[in-house]
Amino acid sequence: MNEAVRHILIVGAGHAGGIAAATLRQADFTGAITLLGSELHPPYERPPLSKELLIGAIPVEKTYLRPLTFYAENGIAFRPGETAVAIDCAAQRVELVNGGTLAYDALLLTTGARARRLPLPGADHPRVLYLRDITDSLALREHLNPGVRVAVIGAGFIGLEAAAAARKRGAVVTVLEIQREPLQRVCPPEIGAFMAELHRRNGVELRTGVGITAIAESGGALALRTADGDTVAADIVLAGIGAQPNVELAQAAGLTVEDGIVTDEFGRTSDPHIFAAGDVTRHFNPLLGRKIRLEAWQNAQNQAMAVANVMAGGDQPHAEVPWFWTDQYDINLQIAGVPERWSELVWRGDPDGKAFTLFATDGGRPVAAITMNNGRDMRTARELIARRRTVDPTRLADVTVKLQDLVRESAGG
Ligand SMILES: Cc1cc2nc3c(=O)[nH]c(=O)nc-3n(C[C@H](O)[C@H](O)[C@H](O)COP(=O)(O)OP(=O)(O)OC[C@H]3O[C@@H](n4cnc5c(N)ncnc54)[C@H](O)[C@@H]3O)c2cc1C
Repeated sequence: MNEAVRHILIVGAGHAGGIAAATLRQADFTGAITLLGSELHPPYERPPLSKELLIGAIPVEKTYLRPLTFYAENGIAFRPGETAVAIDCAAQRVELVNGGTLAYDALLLTTGARARRLPLPGADHPRVLYLRDITDSLALREHLNPGVRVAVIGAGFIGLEAAAAARKRGAVVTVLEIQREPLQRVCPPEIGAFMAELHRRNGVELRTGVGITAIAESGGALALRTADGDTVAADIVLAGIGAQPNVELAQAAGLTVEDGIVTDEFGRTSDPHIFAAGDVTRHFNPLLGRKIRLEAWQNAQNQAMAVANVMAGGDQPHAEVPWFWTDQYDINLQIAGVPERWSELVWRGDPDGKAFTLFATDGGRPVAAITMNNGRDMRTARELIARRRTVDPTRLADVTVKLQDLVRESAGG
């Protein structure tokens, strides 16, 4: 970016915002940096919120990207508890909820996403909880005690991780999922079935194909009414029904938004002075040849780095195979690529065993890979996906053939 950029304002002090601020300094940006965040904590990582923090295995500070002192030491004006409410693109100014304004030469939006609320009668009950930030995690943990009945609505990653944590703390857990299998939006049904079996083995009552229509309090307990007329009793409810991007600021300012702030591979929005990174973006991925929105640690980290480097004068696009992981009980599941469409599933290893890799291929090209306790396959699996070349499915399934050899062959040498 040119020398006229003397002040970069970052709105959203979450994972992407924190990484971007640090990266700007590493990239020798010498102008002023302001990092504005609604929350009171310094930027932190969210994965432990449904895992280690939720079971009480780590203190809150362990989730912080960097200690609070880092920001002042690096000339980053971190302003916790401050929320931006409007952007005046023409004047290059942001309005704050307390009435103040902040001028910028370049603006980075890293406002993330929020938990989608249950659109049901009774869902405003104080014991209907969500899980997005540290406050949510600590509030939920308070309830996770032996014998407490926890109803989890939604068998996505957050719901399943919370269910596993609740079981670890001795709670009685029922998971209610409207689809036929868990994780149906993000994984082939075979993986959903594997995860369903895992949870049942660990004492979760998992009910699929069940829609909840209302929640009511009755005799101190919560009663969840199902679409087929049944009732599930619980002491607390956790709703894990997805997240929605915090796009309102951008939308009101007239930026292009399509369920996410639209950016190119450099993080540029439709306004030349405004960039965006993290969960809030629908960004162009050059490896996939299309725009995607991701809610994933890797994207918050690496996209933020790439965009901050561009803002500091660099010219490298952000281009990588999407990657996500989840930890539940003794299982580590990793997903590379976007398993939305495929023509064939290729198993590498025993699908009934504890460790395997599943490739989803489309016209012979690997488009996604899922490793179950088999993370050592992940790096090469991602290379195979990035090549976008056809691979012989018999060799892909053969564990005696090294994935690295297939990568070399698909590169033509
Ligand atoms: C419970 C949980 C578990 C997860 N586990 C995994 C995992 O195992 N693996 C994985 O790959 N990913 C995981 N993720 C996803 C990953 O944590 C997110 O993708 C990542 O946090 C996104 O970072 P972000 O900076 O874009 O958004 P966020 O981290 O959400 O940060 C956005 C910040 O902006 C602030 N903000 C919003 N609007 C404003 C405003 N107007 N003014 C000021 N501040 C504002 C918000 O308060 C928030 O602090 C998990 C997420 C959650 C919630």
